[in-house]
Amino acid sequence: MTPFDAQAILEKLPPEILPLSTGLDHIGLAVESLEASLPLYHELLGLPLLYQEEVVSDGVRVAVLDLGHGHLELLEPMGPETPVGRFVAKRGPGIHHVALGVKDCAQAIACFRDAGLQLLDQAPRPGAGGKQIAFVHPRSTGGVLLELCQSHP
Ligand code: ZN
Repeated sequence: MTPFDAQAILEKLPPEILPLSTGLDHIGLAVESLEASLPLYHELLGLPLLYQEEVVSDGVRVAVLDLGHGHLELLEPMGPETPVGRFVAKRGPGIHHVALGVKDCAQAIACFRDAGLQLLDQAPRPGAGGKQIAFVHPRSTGGVLLELCQSHP
């Protein structure tokens, strides 16, 4: 991780958008199959299942469970040649990303860019649950695939 002057970047922003993050939005887990994972997280642990959907643009089937404070996002790849499919093939199932809520995804992207951090998305794009999202490369975050997630566009 390259050090940068966070204060200098934040000083240019309108105070009403600070702090940038509103806290944990969700944790994304790569799984081989939603059907095989729901008995643990939904039935045994009792996390309410909020919704399931396919995000075709990302090649994943998603099941979202309520953690109380934040969500658990189970990600089943729709094929081996998808980002999550390649992740599972390379590392096996497990923690895929951490998503932090932001008030304004476009503004957060601009801040990260100003800080010299490497983004995988240069503009907000639609994610699961109608959210606006952008990913930050693990190279810029100490090894964590970080999702910036704006709930209310
Ligand atoms: Zn996510």
